[in-house]
Amino acid sequence: MDDTGADGKGRRALLRALTVGGASAVAGVAMGAAIDSADASERIPASAPGTPRGAHWRPAAGHVDVIWAVNTQQKLVALTFDDGPLPNYTPLVHDALDDAKIPATFFLVGKRVEQHAGLLHGRMDRHEVGNHTWAHTNLSNLSLNTAYRSVKRAHDMIVRVTGKEPRLLRPPWGQLGGTTLQVAGRLGYDVALWSLLITDRSHPHDPNGLIDFVADSAVPGSIILGHDAGGGPSRLTLARALPEMIKRLRKKGFEFVTVSQLLAAQASPTARGTA
Ligand SMILES: [Zn+2]
Repeated sequence: MDDTGADGKGRRALLRALTVGGASAVAGVAMGAAIDSADASERIPASAPGTPRGAHWRPAAGHVDVIWAVNTQQKLVALTFDDGPLPNYTPLVHDALDDAKIPATFFLVGKRVEQHAGLLHGRMDRHEVGNHTWAHTNLSNLSLNTAYRSVKRAHDMIVRVTGKEPRLLRPPWGQLGGTTLQVAGRLGYDVALWSLLITDRSHPHDPNGLIDFVADSAVPGSIILGHDAGGGPSRLTLARALPEMIKRLRKKGFEFVTVSQLLAAQASPTARGTA
């Protein structure tokens, strides 16, 4: 994802709308009106339907999960990094993870994988790969075929360059429509969102503030989203703060796992990550 202010505003607006809906529901009588007006004001894009018209269709696995976090008592968290690889910050992030000997999950942009394949060679052994589309596209605005091409092209490039098969799709900005879920289903993916965004843009020159925020906010099962590309100078603050952030989380008893390992920990209470 890319935590642009505009999208943040959009999410806050949506949350406000949901809150208003919830309040109306409590009021009872007003509920119908609130729902009707919400429907009327929604412009549902053509990409939205979750099932194609007039055809029998089901995802490869019969279902697609959308994951924000995992319920677990174990002190496990998954660090994830979006938008790379790019030369400016990706190597710094890899260095920090290698020094700490911990795994992470990289949601890779296919086009950048093609352009900067060398940044990944020999550096992804302990990490999981995820798909972040071919060109960081808003999937919720695309037709099924265009969305499929974007994700499949990225999938093939990630496999070719890393030798690893992604099983998780993270739609850019977390924006997804019904067609996004269909694409995920066709490719046997689940959709991985996040529960804690590393807000480097709110702490562009304050690494300690950023470290405190993440260390204070993480809970068992958190999927933590950072960025190893784009977004301006605050990304450098994040990359440089990463070693201390990892230390602080460790001091609080957290272990680091990939998103798939975190999901396995949910399925089996005794499963542990390899970190
Ligand atoms: Zn992104």
